[in-house]
Amino acid sequence: MTAAGRKAEEGEGGSKMDIKILENNKAAGKLTFILKDSTVAFANTLRRIMMGEVPAMAIDEIEFHKNSSILYDEVIAHRLGLVPLKTDLKSYNLPEKCKCEGKGCARCQLKIVLKSNKGDEMIYASELKSKDPAVKPAYPEMPIVRLLKNQSLELEATAVLGRGRNHVKWGPCHAYYRHKPVVEMDKGIKNPEEIVEAVPGNVFEVKGGELEVAKESIWKYDLAGAAERASKGKVRITKGNEIIFHMESFGQLSCKEILKASLDILDEQLDELTAALKDIE
Ligand SMILES: [Zn+2]
Repeated sequence: MTAAGRKAEEGEGGSKMDIKILENNKAAGKLTFILKDSTVAFANTLRRIMMGEVPAMAIDEIEFHKNSSILYDEVIAHRLGLVPLKTDLKSYNLPEKCKCEGKGCARCQLKIVLKSNKGDEMIYASELKSKDPAVKPAYPEMPIVRLLKNQSLELEATAVLGRGRNHVKWGPCHAYYRHKPVVEMDKGIKNPEEIVEAVPGNVFEVKGGELEVAKESIWKYDLAGAAERASKGKVRITKGNEIIFHMESFGQLSCKEILKASLDILDEQLDELTAALKDIE
């Protein structure tokens, strides 16, 4: 839609929540964006849903057939639980929302086996053999246990969807935010480069003749204090009404999938609230 078209849809003076992508590093699973015309309350809701409510796949139960490694069954089980598994949200249900009513079926459980009898080798996450090629370790090079000569490990694991609020192994990402800093400069300052040079540590940069907080410093400092001290009060930093939001995927889902799933969950929660309100006289 064109800017003019958008304006017309919003109506005069209206404001619509908007997202502007600052950085989208798909390979590293990192996404930074600006939430425009939003609030801290909304950003925090999004953050909490992303980390605690968006489901991801993780190993939850293990049956050990053989384990003569140096690590106890419990320790290996703990390590395997924390291996991020590529998650396919369309093909699996949360056990409590599945048609089998939590008994366990192909729609809510996935068997994964690990078998090593060779001995004298490092077992990596890549040894986990899943029956579903879409669900496999996101980082195959993660070490599980070092087997010595004549040691073996054989197990059958069950992976299920779960939520980060129940166990961090099911959390798909880390997310945080802050107000976008806005720089206010005294009119007397002719050359903003002076401030860039006066404040150590690459806090500021000049873009299009305007003094701005440098990209790499946005998350780093108590900017307000640093700016005022170094410029002797000529530059002030205030909180803008834009919020910078950063998220890092742990590998189960892409940032876009997590963001989309979190909005669907928020939608669902609001629908539940609307339905509950109908019962109130
Ligand atoms: Zn099921």
